[in-house]
Amino acid sequence: MTASVMLKPGKERSLLRRHPWIYAGGIGRVQGHPDIGETVRVLAADGRFLAWGAFSPSSAIRVRLWSFDEAERIDEAWIARRIAAAVARRAALAADTQAVRLVFGEADGLPGLVVDRYGEQLVLQLLAAGVEHWRDPIVAALREATGLPDVYERSDAAAREREGLTPREGVLAGRLPGDSLAITEHGVRYLVDVLQGHKTGFYIDQRDNRRDVARHAAGRSVLNCFCYTGGFTLAALAGGAARAVSIDSSGPALRRAAEQQALNGLSDRDSEWREADVFDALKRLLAAGDRFDLIVLDPPKFAPSSHHVDRAARAYKEINLKAMRLLNPGGLLYTFSCSGAIDVDLFQKIVAGAVFDARIDLQMLRRLQAGEDHPMLMTHPEGEYLKGLLLQRI
Ligand code: SAH
Repeated sequence: MTASVMLKPGKERSLLRRHPWIYAGGIGRVQGHPDIGETVRVLAADGRFLAWGAFSPSSAIRVRLWSFDEAERIDEAWIARRIAAAVARRAALAADTQAVRLVFGEADGLPGLVVDRYGEQLVLQLLAAGVEHWRDPIVAALREATGLPDVYERSDAAAREREGLTPREGVLAGRLPGDSLAITEHGVRYLVDVLQGHKTGFYIDQRDNRRDVARHAAGRSVLNCFCYTGGFTLAALAGGAARAVSIDSSGPALRRAAEQQALNGLSDRDSEWREADVFDALKRLLAAGDRFDLIVLDPPKFAPSSHHVDRAARAYKEINLKAMRLLNPGGLLYTFSCSGAIDVDLFQKIVAGAVFDARIDLQMLRRLQAGEDHPMLMTHPEGEYLKGLLLQRI
């Protein structure tokens, strides 16, 4: 018999708003002995059916919900239908790019599952007990939905640990990918390292913003901070940037970036890859009187959790303040935060604080976000992690 999880009185409220998580503290009692990842029936304190979910006995998020429909049966065919639907929703993106996020967790009704496609290669992350339980059917359904045989796993170890799962990486089906998979996005070639690269190898989420930078880059001098393997820089150079300075603390990432510059036939351009700490480098650029027409600030997640928000806010403010001062009049600032704990309104406030202190006038042209293959479930705003602002100095 299916085990059930009965919530404490009042704790059904978030589920009635169709939020897909149940925290351990909301659970009154568990009937039966569900294994890790097993499907449980979720009941209100009065015994009413609320949802089907996956049980995760050692996670703070004790149940992640599959469905609010009692008539649905969570089985291999159900998983396969959700995967096929998520893949089908992305079909139109293939015209612009070979790097697409095919499945994005909660937003696609598959909590904890991330699947990226790089050309003919699939890369998968299983980050929660529920999707781990359905590992083999998920791999089979992905191969079926895409027609692609090669599936590699790059599950983030820390996320799996929180779920009580052991870290996993490696070939799940087909061949071992190389460490330098060439893909094309909006006409620019990138080399993706699915074995060692950040995330599953590439910042797919910045696709639209890279294109936007390319469109604004012609004739401009560009500064790309936290450039990693140079995604924004390559887009800018391809868009006709007059000069590019790109800064990152990782030597290997910068070498990969320079390799991609050559791959795109852009080696003759005025482009410098600087291995440095961005906080120091911004100070030095200011002191040297260097100025730019387009600046990208796309730092790592400064606030990994809500406990880090204050310190992160100071760091965001510092780099934004310095970047603003480095802008020529008319210059553009693309500034981002990928901290889930800092929402778009708070980020805008932090950046506004930097504007006050910089004592210059900037207008906001628009807000920026991840591409449409990284959707946010409206009832799960926590899923919106990447936010940005496009500002112009006047
Ligand atoms: N903008 C990149 C992704 C940034 S990932 C892209 O579009 O692909 C964050 C990067 O910041 C990593 O490459 C990391 O090496 C770098 N980094 C982290 N802290 C840094 C610091 N203090 N100074 C310079 N680089 C830093």
